[in-house]
Amino acid sequence: MKLTSYWLDTAKPAGDFRHQELPASVDVAVVGGGLTGLSTALHLAKQGASVAVLEARTLGWGASGRNGGMATTGLAISFPKAVKRYGLDAATRMFTVYNDAIDTIEDVVATEGIDCDFERVGKLNLASKPAHYDDFQRAAELLERHAGHQTTLLPSHRMREEIGSDFFHGAMVDPLAAGVHVGKLCSGLAMAASHYGASLHEDCEVVSFERLGERRQRVVTSQGSLVAEDVVVGTSGYSGKLLPWLRRRIVPIGSFIVVTKPLDKAVLDELLPLRRVASDSKNLIYYFRITPDDRLLFGGRARFAMSNPGSDLRSGDILRRAMTKVFPQLRGVGIDYCWGGLVDMSLDQMVHAGRRDGVFYSVGYSGHGVQMATHMGKVVAQVLGGDDRANPWRDLSFRAVPGHVGPPWFLPPVGAYYRFLDLVK
Ligand SMILES: Cc1cc2nc3c(=O)[nH]c(=O)nc-3n(C[C@H](O)[C@H](O)[C@H](O)COP(=O)(O)OP(=O)(O)OC[C@H]3O[C@@H](n4cnc5c(N)ncnc54)[C@H](O)[C@@H]3O)c2cc1C
Repeated sequence: MKLTSYWLDTAKPAGDFRHQELPASVDVAVVGGGLTGLSTALHLAKQGASVAVLEARTLGWGASGRNGGMATTGLAISFPKAVKRYGLDAATRMFTVYNDAIDTIEDVVATEGIDCDFERVGKLNLASKPAHYDDFQRAAELLERHAGHQTTLLPSHRMREEIGSDFFHGAMVDPLAAGVHVGKLCSGLAMAASHYGASLHEDCEVVSFERLGERRQRVVTSQGSLVAEDVVVGTSGYSGKLLPWLRRRIVPIGSFIVVTKPLDKAVLDELLPLRRVASDSKNLIYYFRITPDDRLLFGGRARFAMSNPGSDLRSGDILRRAMTKVFPQLRGVGIDYCWGGLVDMSLDQMVHAGRRDGVFYSVGYSGHGVQMATHMGKVVAQVLGGDDRANPWRDLSFRAVPGHVGPPWFLPPVGAYYRFLDLVK
């Protein structure tokens, strides 16, 4: 079994960018080489800006190369919850941005000719409890009435039409969601950004900023420094100590994944006949899909813990057992990959993008960043081009997480609380 991301293992890297000489100055320095950073670089370079992407490890090394590869509709919180919190109009606008975000991936992939198995397979939202199906019914009705968004409800007795499991209590099927090979998407975005003139730098950790003007900064990295007229930070759950105010606002939470050996077509046809991507309705969710080469990928917040090889293995064991509870027919099937990554959770589970101390940031995707991080690259380029209103998250206040000043010591008690909620609600 490989303790590495299936996506990164099965994608050809865009190149080796570890020893590229840094330019002396650029229009925009982008910190972080995930979907946010690479998409920002691509869209800015296409606008004619000189851009350098500064990545501490390798391109796609963070959450972008480690996720479930599901570009789904909807916010990280449920639509009814968003309506309650922000009102109907704002919630509907914010919900719709996620549809736009999937369109952005589709457009970029088509325009730049990126071969990354993008497919609109649709998503199964699976009810973990009978009451959750009632919630789906309410959400589906609200979505159709106010956002014009059509979903299909599937009661528990019809579940076998969509999934080879009797574990769930109904589903809401959303046709717009897509599956994508995120390793290939990251490589493709990097190649396209480089094609339009962006310079890419790996093993290049940004260690500090020296402010030279309203936006102008000297950016100090492990490979030397450069002057940037503007800086964009897209470091998500890997933000670390670079910007203390950012650290206080984002909690990095581990999410873990196992991937089976390739399965026979007959087995796949039974598990997920329409090859949809899927997730359940618990707080500590499970999500799964079939990979482009016919394996089952099964992930979840198995434990509220950070990701490291020991933690990934323990979580992988929990996930393997969960997978065989959902799909008993997979008992005894070998696991080829097991890994973990960090989700960038904000206090309100909303995306936050804006400017502070001269630096523009886009973070807080809260487990829904495949589509939104890619989309925010396009948005950031529009904002830096002068269109502030392009930023759909500009009015949200970005609050610090109480008590969060260093490593997130509070994860185990918070995890225990959500496990308890999953038992009783
Ligand atoms: C296991 C897992 C499963 C997920 N599944 C899904 C899913 O199915 N669908 C979905 O929509 N979302 C999912 N997500 C969330 C999604 O992957 C993220 O929201 C998205 O990839 C964030 O992209 P990003 O570019 O902002 O950050 P990242 O991809 O995390 O990139 C940040 C980069 O910044 C670099 N960095 C940090 N500090 C510095 C520094 N000082 N200098 C230079 N570089 C630095 C890091 O090395 C890292 O490569 C999942 C996440 C995880 C972890």
